[in-house]
Amino acid sequence: MAALLLSGSPFLHAQRGKKMQATPVLPDSALPGYPALSMGIDSLQWARIMAGCNDRFVPLSPPDSLCIIGTGDIMLGTWYPSENYLPPGGDCSPLLRPVHHILQSGHLLFGNLEGGLGDYGGVPKHCRDNGNCYVFRMPARFGQCLADAGYDLLSVANNHVNDFGPEGRAITAGILDSLGFAFAGFLERPYTVLEKDGLRYGFAAFAPNRGCMDMLNYRAAADIARHLDSISDVVIISFHGGAEGRNHQHVVKGDEVFLGYNRGSVYRFAHAVVDAGADIVFGHGPHVSRAIELYRDRIICYSLGNFATYGRFNLSGPNGIAPILKLMVSPSGRFLKGQIVPICQSGEGGPRPDPYKRATEKIRTLSTSDFPMQELEIGSDGSLRRKESRHLSP
Ligand SMILES: [Zn+2]
Repeated sequence: MAALLLSGSPFLHAQRGKKMQATPVLPDSALPGYPALSMGIDSLQWARIMAGCNDRFVPLSPPDSLCIIGTGDIMLGTWYPSENYLPPGGDCSPLLRPVHHILQSGHLLFGNLEGGLGDYGGVPKHCRDNGNCYVFRMPARFGQCLADAGYDLLSVANNHVNDFGPEGRAITAGILDSLGFAFAGFLERPYTVLEKDGLRYGFAAFAPNRGCMDMLNYRAAADIARHLDSISDVVIISFHGGAEGRNHQHVVKGDEVFLGYNRGSVYRFAHAVVDAGADIVFGHGPHVSRAIELYRDRIICYSLGNFATYGRFNLSGPNGIAPILKLMVSPSGRFLKGQIVPICQSGEGGPRPDPYKRATEKIRTLSTSDFPMQELEIGSDGSLRRKESRHLSP
């Protein structure tokens, strides 16, 4: 099946042309050691520096280093089974606005679309009672809120994009295409290539769910990563997998069975696609944040958590905090450094910068405990960098 998928030409997206007037890079002196980290700057200041918004940066084309930003699950409100689950006035635009400045501070923005878009058509998944019905469908107009936020890449492989069946997927795809998003993860859209800032980004998304590219077929996923690596500068792979909730914050190396079915081995999947050429792996699905691993000079984020989820989501405790993950990589995808910008959601939802920086501490603790031997160091300020060698010659 993989060979069949790979034989056609990729879905090619031109740059949407809405972001990054210049393509700034960090000066050489700021790359190794990152002196700014020890100066006590706060995460938002650091986020601006990461984005190359500092006057000292010299625009070059194509950029010498790329700032790629990842966010977790996005569901901005559903009109099914009731319009009561929509944000006030049926307006999604206030939800992401408080973090626009962070989302728009890089070269490329990724998120997981946890539900379809559409105003009609398709057959909803059966619900026994409407009060306990987790079937999601965002109004078609909500796609514009994602465009306004600056999203380039969207994963549509997860357990909710198929809530209105194949027709629902087709309607969602039509809306995303009309707005110029690069997206992947449907059986009908296994991968895509986005051209932006003179670079080609290969992207594919997987989940162990109906209608989606199968995360459990590790060999086929690796084949796609390998193919994307052969035709792209940077390869980004997304997965929606692993068990859900506060009892499943740790990365386990085997299969995770949850609610009676196999949600995959996130560790095996992520390592397989990096071995095949993936440069960044953005995981999500557990609704909580998980560890970040530096593997073969590439970053794997095992869960980006609930990023912008309105209404139908539990946002208590660890479910209500998440990172915006900013990664600086070379034009070939090699990790340079990174930054966690912690957000929180409260009430019905909608991300805000978290003054308590809880997601930073959570991911730092989980990463140390799950990958104690790795070379990645996460600072208390949320900075990501390689550990300094402990074996320097005298
Ligand atoms: Zn999900």
